[in-house]
Amino acid sequence: MRIAMIGAGYVGLVSGACFSDFGHHVVCVDSDKAKVAALKGGELPIYEPGLAELVASNVRQGRLVFGHDLKSAVADAEVVFIAVGTPSRRGDGHADMSYVYAAAHEIACALTQFTVIVTKSTVPVGTSDEVERIIREANPAAEFAVVSNPEFLREGAAIRDFKHPDRIVIGCSDARARNIVTEVYRPLHLNAPPILHTDRRTAELTKYAANCFLATKIAFINEIADLAERVGANVQEVARGIGLDNRIGQKFLHAGPGFGGSCFPKDTLALIKTAQDNEAPLRIVETVMAVNDQRKRAMARKVAHAFGGNGNLRGKAIAVLGVTFKPNTDDMRDAPSIPLITALQDMGAAIRVFDPVGMSQAKKVLQDVTFCESAYDCAKGAHALVIVTEWEQFRALDLKELALIMASPVIVDLRNIYSPEEAARHGFHYCGVGRPRPLAY
Ligand code: NAD
Repeated sequence: MRIAMIGAGYVGLVSGACFSDFGHHVVCVDSDKAKVAALKGGELPIYEPGLAELVASNVRQGRLVFGHDLKSAVADAEVVFIAVGTPSRRGDGHADMSYVYAAAHEIACALTQFTVIVTKSTVPVGTSDEVERIIREANPAAEFAVVSNPEFLREGAAIRDFKHPDRIVIGCSDARARNIVTEVYRPLHLNAPPILHTDRRTAELTKYAANCFLATKIAFINEIADLAERVGANVQEVARGIGLDNRIGQKFLHAGPGFGGSCFPKDTLALIKTAQDNEAPLRIVETVMAVNDQRKRAMARKVAHAFGGNGNLRGKAIAVLGVTFKPNTDDMRDAPSIPLITALQDMGAAIRVFDPVGMSQAKKVLQDVTFCESAYDCAKGAHALVIVTEWEQFRALDLKELALIMASPVIVDLRNIYSPEEAARHGFHYCGVGRPRPLAY
């Protein structure tokens, strides 16, 4: 099948590469000329495990190409996926639909044959109707159908998620279009993922509801962590105790610094706005957002507490390990590290930073910090080590070595990757999330 992918970002590039790996012919189109030039030169604009190899192999086999000529890509395609960004609109928090609608307009003018247009971007309910209206108005003679097919992949595990999805949601009322989109995913049928055929509005709402539910789990366990700290319980064991119940499930129950990233913050806010506009407010999701926002400031206070809690960190150097919003991505969008670092700077701390992959993205958003070469370089001379993102390589640091090179032995482990007892054995004042202090301390 011939596919045009509009937008070659995290979703467009992964989806395009995976579809080409299924055997389809894919043109990934992006309006960012520098991005396209890099891709054509074999350079990936993002970090995603396994993606460079997948892209290179499909480019080599002639099934994946990149360009910025949307018109010719769409004219040749049987299926066009819209995978452009839907960030928060400045000022009101609704999803900014300008990129989707601009793409719809450009697509309309390029249609030459019956084409299925699929919204893969996360879009508010009713967007596919609007995309259809835009295309019909711009090109009344065009033969097309609009389908909603939201994407559920996670950055850091995107290829696996795309190739082994928990489900595929196809929202559509046109039988011909439904068959074509089902055919696009046919190579996955061997793995037998459930395919949910539904209408477009249901598909659009399903995506937001999924993200908001996952965000709710995170906010919930974070509040339980705060309570566990007060009452001397262990949140990790509580999470396991509840997560082993199949009705609850173990995922998204890791207490930490609060959710961030390119999706949860903007999607929770956008769904809240949609719900308010439709006079069906989502009080739970509103609270989840408020709880999560407060948590970022609370994490800075947690670090300050390690120094007596008076909020004055003047003269203290803090080493921050991990700044991307999660491991295995270089994505800094809405990363919890950003407000945490700003709050620590406001308290007077000098910040040192190391991230295994996110340094070049971090340099674009973090100001007045010292960027370091390694975790140990970062810790050298620091008065506290704050673990913000749980990269694999931070899980087995040599605590003995750290104790020797740091100015004072303090670890604030916002991902609970160290044992409090082990840290205490090495002389550290250790502070995790929702876990009792070691008895030795
Ligand atoms: P992104 O910002 O990484 O990529 C979007 C790309 O679209 C950019 O490269 C931009 O230059 C390009 N673009 C914008 N307008 C264009 C146009 N008219 N023609 C061609 N290219 C255009 O965004 P992303 O993270 O890939 O997210 C895309 C959508 O997928 C969003 O709606 C997001 O919510 C959703 N989503 C993202 C993830 C994720 O993990 N990142 C997961 C599931 C769904």
